[in-house]
Amino acid sequence: MSIRDLLRRNPERRARPARWLLLCLIVVLGLLVVALRYLTPSSPGRELSLSELSTLVQAQQVERVTILDEDAQIVGEGPDGTFHVAYPKSDTATAALIQQLTDAGARVDVDPQSGKATIRMLATVVLPLVLLANLFALLFTTGRQNSGGLSEVRRFGTLGRRGGPRAEPPAVTFGDVAGADEAVTELDEIVSYLTDPTRYASLGAVPPKGVLLFGPPGCGKTLVARATAGEAGVPFFSVSGADFVESLVGVGAARIRDLFARARAVAPAIVFIDEIDAAGRRRGAADGGGSDEREQTLNQLLVEMDGFDAASGVVVMGATNRPDILDPALLRPGRFDRHVVIDRPDVAGRQRILRLHTTGRPVADNVDLGELARQTPGFTGADLANVVNEAALLAIREGHIHLGRGEFTEAVQRVLSGPQRRGRVLSEDERRRIAVHESGHAIVAAGCRLSSDVHRISIVARGRGLGSITMGGDRDAVLLTQDRLHAHLTLAMSGRAAEELVFGTPSTGSESDLEHATDLARDIAGRYGMSQRLGRMRLLAPTSEVYLGGSAALERLSERVHETFDDEVRRLLDDAFHTATDTLLAHRELLDDLVAEVLRTETLEGAALDTLLDRVTPAGAILNGERS
Ligand code: ADP
Ligand code: MG
Ligand code: ZN
Repeated sequence: MSIRDLLRRNPERRARPARWLLLCLIVVLGLLVVALRYLTPSSPGRELSLSELSTLVQAQQVERVTILDEDAQIVGEGPDGTFHVAYPKSDTATAALIQQLTDAGARVDVDPQSGKATIRMLATVVLPLVLLANLFALLFTTGRQNSGGLSEVRRFGTLGRRGGPRAEPPAVTFGDVAGADEAVTELDEIVSYLTDPTRYASLGAVPPKGVLLFGPPGCGKTLVARATAGEAGVPFFSVSGADFVESLVGVGAARIRDLFARARAVAPAIVFIDEIDAAGRRRGAADGGGSDEREQTLNQLLVEMDGFDAASGVVVMGATNRPDILDPALLRPGRFDRHVVIDRPDVAGRQRILRLHTTGRPVADNVDLGELARQTPGFTGADLANVVNEAALLAIREGHIHLGRGEFTEAVQRVLSGPQRRGRVLSEDERRRIAVHESGHAIVAAGCRLSSDVHRISIVARGRGLGSITMGGDRDAVLLTQDRLHAHLTLAMSGRAAEELVFGTPSTGSESDLEHATDLARDIAGRYGMSQRLGRMRLLAPTSEVYLGGSAALERLSERVHETFDDEVRRLLDDAFHTATDTLLAHRELLDDLVAEVLRTETLEGAALDTLLDRVTPAGAILNGERS
């Protein structure tokens, strides 16, 4: 093991050179300033010119003068008090001056100011040399690749703010998080592990290692990560991926190494890498420049994550709102293999977040937080915190002692129009339409017995889609029967069917449903040979790539088959649509009830949903075979 290795293993020791150099630099600079101040020539009293002085001396008005040799000043007491005179400093000039003054009858003392001479020497020769040497040393230490020097220098400046070497657990706990119950439940396991890591080791269980939090900005990812550490009472070391976009290659990697070293030293602990997508972007993606640094950082992260074992008690958490661009290597087992979604809160969650942020503030009696929550669909936790803050600011401006209803209404408008809000808020009509669409899906799913249960209907905007239903499904099925396929087709058309049933016209909301349904219908007719008119024949190319250009496969077929194929796809889709409509017509009342309930709660799940969907009668007969 080389000295370098030794140094690398001990971050504290590695930290020293840069820290000492910096300290030295500050001391030297300080000395220089003091010396320069000391060296300014003393100039007591009035300033006279040399000729004025000789006039005074000749007039017998000055008895005695002192020559300050270093300062090149003559000082003395004249008729008008103390004076000082500057004179050119050269040996011959001094000699002549002394001669002239003594001739005129004054007594001349010379103060050689030897102390000042020494200091001048120091300040003009020695200190600058030390300063230069110091600067060079500092540049060398910090510029060296992978040295971690710069991060140390940084840390030097931010000591204490980051918690310094003795890291304290954050003060936030899960009590400071509202409306993210699922995430909190999942993180409970991490907390239990961090509270007693040895228990896992003794039972031979593989402990959690990396947790990736993802969700839109402002939904509380950073908050939840800190709260996990706070809840477990362990130190929290955090760094943001954005910090890695540094100009110096190797700095990001050094910071990662440093972070892990510090965490390991005080384990159990959490290492948190915020906005991990900035560092962990897919490698090799064409992004022009700067990727070298990111790649090093990412590699270092992977090395660190692979390098500690089960019992180490270090859990790595990462947060991102772009899981799609993460390097797949990060998601492999043993790395960030647990994923926790932290999404926009629904109406109940919003109400609880509002309550959390208003506790301890004087909220007027006329403020209904439930109503406020209903008025703010799509708002994130950060938006809601912002609303409360804006309301407080407005109250202050208007000199109120309470946060009133008016302030909150105005605050919502401000946050809505604020620059930081990119999400849109749905109008009442849009919400209703989405509720109808999703309820339609749910009823048909239940009617087709497509899944044992629909777990949840939600109209809280998630990602690209506006609403969603979540159901246990056929995902694990190895084979799909014709009935199943038709049921899926019907399900895909059911959102649109519900919209047309209730509103008379469709909307753009079913675009992706249609896309899915069309693909499925083409597969039924062209891949699985399940169309009576086309027969048991494969028309489309087998792989999905070729299938995307599927017409290529069809080109080889006769015009007649081609036309029949198009007809069949259309017929399958139409049939599915009508089946969906029939099912919904048979449950028209339930549809209305479901819509009302979804509009009220935004997310409908559990017993409330089950009771409603129990009213669906299975429509097996309709789905048997093809409709004619
Ligand atoms: P993210 O990291 O997901 O962008 P943050 O954790 O930075 O979001 O959240 C910003 C702030 O918004 C938090 O400090 C907190 O005040 C508030 N906030 C966000 N989500 C919640 C929540 N679920 N409960 C309470 N407060 C929240
Ligand atoms: Mg954050
Ligand atoms: Zn749909």
